[in-house]
Amino acid sequence: MSKPILYHSTNLKAAPVSFKEALLKGIAPDKGLYMPDHIPQLTSEELESFSHKKYWEIAYDVIHKFLKNDIPADDLKALCKDAYNFEVPLENGYDRKFVMRLDQGPTASFKDFAARMMGRLMNYYLTRDKRNLLILTATSGDTGSAIANAYFGLKNVKALVLFPQKEVTNRQRKQMTTLGDNVQTVSLEGKFDDCQALVKQAFADHELDYLNLSSANSINIGRLIPQTVYYFYSYAKLKKTKDEKVIFSVPSGNFGDMMGGVIAMKMGLPVKKFIISTNDNDEYPKFLNSEDYDIIVPSRNCISSAMNVGHPSNMSRLVALYGGVMSEKGTILKKADMKAMKHDIWAVSINDEHTKETIKEAYKTHKIVLEPHGSVGWAGLHEYIKSHGDDKDQLYISLETAHPAKFPEQIIKLLGFDPELPKSLAGLEDKKEQYDKIGLEYSDFKKYLIENYA
Ligand SMILES: *Cc1c(COP(=O)(O)O)cnc(C)c1O
Repeated sequence: MSKPILYHSTNLKAAPVSFKEALLKGIAPDKGLYMPDHIPQLTSEELESFSHKKYWEIAYDVIHKFLKNDIPADDLKALCKDAYNFEVPLENGYDRKFVMRLDQGPTASFKDFAARMMGRLMNYYLTRDKRNLLILTATSGDTGSAIANAYFGLKNVKALVLFPQKEVTNRQRKQMTTLGDNVQTVSLEGKFDDCQALVKQAFADHELDYLNLSSANSINIGRLIPQTVYYFYSYAKLKKTKDEKVIFSVPSGNFGDMMGGVIAMKMGLPVKKFIISTNDNDEYPKFLNSEDYDIIVPSRNCISSAMNVGHPSNMSRLVALYGGVMSEKGTILKKADMKAMKHDIWAVSINDEHTKETIKEAYKTHKIVLEPHGSVGWAGLHEYIKSHGDDKDQLYISLETAHPAKFPEQIIKLLGFDPELPKSLAGLEDKKEQYDKIGLEYSDFKKYLIENYA
């Protein structure tokens, strides 16, 4: 029996905890992010066996490596099968350059991969312990719907999503307000920051402790581990020879996606390079070149809006993985092994003009329909090829993180047609919406929580 994996904080000032505790806490008491104290390894026989397995089976094999002392095999299998009931298309561009479409989940965003598994893991422990949680989250759009959909139908978790009435699109709102069951939504006549402030105040209010409030934070370790799986999956399905090395291009904002990839590599996935493609928020490409880390405040607005992050929370995890320490504010307390990091990672910043040109070019030349986030990834891949030379035999995989139909205005403008909605988003127009409205005062929100959840 191997040693159980414990999770320590990137700030190194909190006691290591079990997976369950890291999952249910989200953030460590010293404000750091949880990281596994060692990374489990996959053998090349195990990697080989993935080529004929289904996505959920690979998810089980990979996640089980982390949780073998925590969740019985059959229980984990059932959770994986339930979480991953959708396709992961691998589309060929040209030569051996592929686009992995992570856009077929219930909210047509790659966030479904992490959120669905995290929700099920939480629900599993809560059911076992006969406890309940109320997930509170504020959203300005897509995060809220991914969370709402991920928790929908789970028995021991309720989710309450606050959104600013005027800042979400009709479609974004309907993705949250048509679910019902254990998912409730509340609209405010304010801004995202007002929603966020109410949620924060509720978390800090000890009079509400008995409601068991929790957050579904994007930096939860329960979201990171599932994000290793699609790297294994795509490699296994596309490789031609045993142990050949792959190059991934990852459009990045908060760096959770790329952390999943780097962890997969540390588990034994044969990766030649990660291309990290950012939009104008280029703090990471600069860091990799200059070794000085300067956060960007406020973050720059680009059309790949889910990547408008000027200081990615997962940066402290990446630095930790290369032996360094970075505070949550972005100060380097101990230098990482930058040589090793540069060996594994190459980074580039792609501006909006380039992003739009790439959407046109990819469609015209290769008949691939990309949306702004995936376009940043595909453009980054081509910048890498420009500087390193092309290799027809090299396997390249670029990640597409959202469905083009979520960006109809851009696609119509650039490609001249309205992309067809994926199954998950079709029919939303006719579903019945249900949501409450409250004022901006904390006292109103508190009253609402007590009336509905006490
Ligand atoms: C969140 C998001 C990203 C960025 O992923 P990170 O893990 O934050 O780097 C990219 N594309 C889309 C569509 C997203 O929603």
